[in-house]
Amino acid sequence: MADFRALTRRSLISILGAVVAGLNATTAAQAKSSKAAANYRGAPNGGQSCANCSYFYPPSGCGVVSGPVSARGWCKLWG
Ligand code: SF4
Repeated sequence: MADFRALTRRSLISILGAVVAGLNATTAAQAKSSKAAANYRGAPNGGQSCANCSYFYPPSGCGVVSGPVSARGWCKLWG
């Protein structure tokens, strides 16, 4: 019985470790680029702007670049 409890405790610790590692990987995958790294600017690039980018969510959000962005802005991650 004592061995079973020890095994269970070790199993729980292993599972908890795997969950924490998975959360860390998810957080890293969801990290956004800085504006500088994305070459963000507050002006459109031809017909491309945040307003018509699939990553833009009004009024000033971006799914891949951190911080507020302008609907009239643009960066190299436009898509
Ligand atoms: S990816 Fe770039 S262009 Fe698209 S919304 Fe974000 S900052 Fe604007």
